[in-house]
Amino acid sequence: MSTWRDNVRKVIPYTPGEQPKEKNVIKLNTNENPYPPSPKVKEVMDSFDTSVLRKYPDPAVKDLVHALAARYGVADDQVFVGVGSDDVISMCFLTFFAGGKNVLFPDVTYSFYDVWASVYGVPYKTVALDADFRINPADYAVENGGIIFPNPNAPTGVEESLDTIRAILDANKDSVVIVDEAYVDFGAASALPLVKEYENLLVVQTFSKSRQMAGMRIGYSIGSPELIKYLNDVKYSVNSYTMNSLQIATGVAAVEDEAYFEECCAKIMATRERSEKELSKLGFTFPKSSANFIFATHETVPAADIFAALKEAGIYVRYFNKPRIDNYLRITVGTDEEMDGLFEFLAKYLEDK
Ligand code: PMP
Repeated sequence: MSTWRDNVRKVIPYTPGEQPKEKNVIKLNTNENPYPPSPKVKEVMDSFDTSVLRKYPDPAVKDLVHALAARYGVADDQVFVGVGSDDVISMCFLTFFAGGKNVLFPDVTYSFYDVWASVYGVPYKTVALDADFRINPADYAVENGGIIFPNPNAPTGVEESLDTIRAILDANKDSVVIVDEAYVDFGAASALPLVKEYENLLVVQTFSKSRQMAGMRIGYSIGSPELIKYLNDVKYSVNSYTMNSLQIATGVAAVEDEAYFEECCAKIMATRERSEKELSKLGFTFPKSSANFIFATHETVPAADIFAALKEAGIYVRYFNKPRIDNYLRITVGTDEEMDGLFEFLAKYLEDK
């Protein structure tokens, strides 16, 4: 007998990292930035005129699009803004991967890609990273319906060079190639300069990590005007008003405060370098990180055990019980004090092992 359940789209959803309610935890599990957003963002919020909420926001998000275009030296019609880069990438799956051929992404990567592929019915094939979690561009020189990968990759933190990205683009003139640069501002080279040369390249970035605004939900992509037009056509076919008035106003303030952005990124990178040294002393190894997290495995103690002990102690890191990476912990770079709390606990815990 058929029921309404037969008509339901059934998916296995993405699992976001935990957001514990307790105050006294050290939270290094979702790659947030430990510093507050720019003081200019607070100024905008404090003087925000709530009467504007009566009206719909600008569907074209012009002010924020313009601020981003000016910051990155592109034209306004090369920028698309969404509700976090998750929204932008979700729109990309819906817009660019409609050809029915396999979309390619690495086997170890952002665990949302296969979820979007499933929910939109996009066929996909994962491409194995090598033993050092590196991309071999030759693996992408095969027929496909599109390509997406983060650079630096998540959860590994490994950066691929622009030569590698160029090699992938040169072999894929007939596919949309999306580089997800959620973590690029912590020292990696952005593929944005290649947008001029490749009309099929789309670069996606976010305010969640390097602009300390994960809670505000702002992401964007930059590419050729043609790609951006296709994205907007799909957006206007789903929800015209994705960005609210406060997101737009605070987003502009954050982009315009370049000095604060640079200062916070530099602090994270300095803490990351120090954390890599401390973790090495404690017997961890990891690929060199170009992101705001370190993907570490311990020489003797299983990651699952360390994860459980840390959680018990109120220190949250991320553990993925997945093939190839189930002996790793992804540790977000927090403040120096937070990292010291982590190292102190680990030193005691590992001594008893
Ligand atoms: N891409 C990657 C690789 C990520 O790790 C994340 C963070 N979960 C995102 C995109 C999405 O971030 P947001 O939606 O907060 O911009």
